[in-house]
Amino acid sequence: MTKYIFITGGVVSSLGKGIASASIGKLLESKGLKISIIKCDPYINVDPGTMNPYQHGEVYVTEDGAETDLDLGHYERFTNAVLSRDNNITTGKIYESVIKKERKGKYLGSTVQVIPHITDEIKYSIKHVAALRNIDVVIVEIGGTVGDIESLPFLESIRQLKQELGTGNAIDIHLTLIPYIKSADEIKTKPTQHSVGKLREIGIQPDILLCRTEKKLTHDVREKISLFCNVGPEAVIAAVDVANIYEVPLTLQEDNLDALILRKLGIAYRERDLKNWKASVVNVVKNPERSVKIAVVGKYIALQDAYKSIYEALMHGGIANKAKVEIVKVDSEDILKQGAYTFLSNVDGVLVPGGFGTRGIEGKIQAIHFARVNKMPYFGICLGMQTAVIEFARNSCGLKDANSTEFSKRTRYPVISLLEEQKKIKDKGGTMRLGGYRCLVKKKTLAYAAYKKSDISERHRHRYEFNNKFKAALSKKGMIFSGVFRAKNLVEMIELKNHPWFVAVQFHPEFKSKPDNAHPLFRDFIKAALKNSA
Ligand code: GLN
Repeated sequence: MTKYIFITGGVVSSLGKGIASASIGKLLESKGLKISIIKCDPYINVDPGTMNPYQHGEVYVTEDGAETDLDLGHYERFTNAVLSRDNNITTGKIYESVIKKERKGKYLGSTVQVIPHITDEIKYSIKHVAALRNIDVVIVEIGGTVGDIESLPFLESIRQLKQELGTGNAIDIHLTLIPYIKSADEIKTKPTQHSVGKLREIGIQPDILLCRTEKKLTHDVREKISLFCNVGPEAVIAAVDVANIYEVPLTLQEDNLDALILRKLGIAYRERDLKNWKASVVNVVKNPERSVKIAVVGKYIALQDAYKSIYEALMHGGIANKAKVEIVKVDSEDILKQGAYTFLSNVDGVLVPGGFGTRGIEGKIQAIHFARVNKMPYFGICLGMQTAVIEFARNSCGLKDANSTEFSKRTRYPVISLLEEQKKIKDKGGTMRLGGYRCLVKKKTLAYAAYKKSDISERHRHRYEFNNKFKAALSKKGMIFSGVFRAKNLVEMIELKNHPWFVAVQFHPEFKSKPDNAHPLFRDFIKAALKNSA
């Protein structure tokens, strides 16, 4: 029978519930359990695909082409769980499905209400994930903070589920903040007491408290939290701040969270450990042998979360080369104002990530030009491939003002354009080329040197494509088309002759990179940048 762990959050947002959930997943996997992780998002958008990165951060894409919350990225990086569109449940999706059923007459005769219809739909969606893949433990992270109006139906659903499944089959882990008041040199438990009080008001008694804290929790503090919050002192776990997120599973294990969870869920104790993770990830991050500077040139640089998976994948590339990657975040609009040299003259490699819309495009093109002519390793991702094609067409092939039709509808040289099938699409939500597509890699290319195989699959999220009409012209000047989606003859990867490492891809390799298994392109990009820095 599948067991459930519900993760709720209290006091403030941004406590790292996603990383806590992913770390718990990692701990349980290290015990040989098959896990899955679900994120419940209380907003009314059906998915985050139509949201601005400033609202939401990165949109993470799963293999089956769902546009999801970036926490799913943490789940996939920390664990081997196979995630799909079912692993991200939003209020929008739940209502969409309930309203569809109502129109079909599935609830004929009844008034459709939040309880039981919405809550039943939520419970069904959660249990569906467990049933689908025969999961031992499903971890369900509830977005938002206890006390929010929006998350109430989700909390009510887990209250009911806990009740129905019975003690020993479902637990609630509440992530809370224990603030440190500097002037008094004290850590405070009151916000946690209030937050747990709020949870109990809606009928949920947490089983374990995960306390985010800057300072260690003393015995007295644990006793006090235990007394006021109705959990045993051993169930007050310290989640002390760490320098690197990949250390979190180790710190939680130090406080015996893994053994505690197994006991509470009635799973026999299993001796397994995280030795490999510690040796191949955590220790390498702590003691790098070299370091390298990579410029990420984008337009959402100010926002920490907008390029989450890119930053993580760069770090993984570093780990694979036993190097520390120092990321220099460059706003592409600044390049336009102050020139590429100002920002890129002392970095070892340049990466242009994905993006949408005209703002910042010309700055990215200048950055790519700088990397190309100065033989600096360049890695273009999605829009970073499209802009690389534009730059090359304009400056190497004499196609003056070449552009993507996304930015200039009437350009004479539409080197990037829409396929006929995309032109017909009017709706914005979920209509791009999304998810995993196979790609044939050409032998004797940088791409092949990285993947070491010809048949690969990578995840996509874009509307525009390379325009094959320009293939001959660009190839004549030294562009190599190293990856193609054969079924539709679409260009997926390009690279350049006479350049040490200039690779750009239409897909998003960052979504498949893991700390203990860096994506081959990120690994080789960092390797090339290290060579450039030497
Ligand atoms: N805006 C481009 C497109 O839609 C690139 C998208 C991206 O970088 N994810 O094709």
